[in-house]
Amino acid sequence: MVIVGFVQFIVAMIFGLKIEQVAGYYECAKCGHRYVPTYGAVTMAMHLSRTRYMKCPKCGKKSRQKKVISKADENE
Ligand SMILES: [Zn+2]
Repeated sequence: MVIVGFVQFIVAMIFGLKIEQVAGYYECAKCGHRYVPTYGAVTMAMHLSRTRYMKCPKCGKKSRQKKVISKADENE
């Protein structure tokens, strides 16, 4: 029973991260580029409330990127 509970906890944690990754985008503080980071990047990135310190795929600079829900003003 303990093992089952532990497995459920791990699964819930993984799904929680997955949902957090897909629900929204991260906006680069340097160039304003919005993108969906890779699952690995989200998992490895430091948690700082709703911002994450990650590397922008467009300008290649690392910055504290804030989470945004909409991609409506993406001009690409
Ligand atoms: Zn950028």
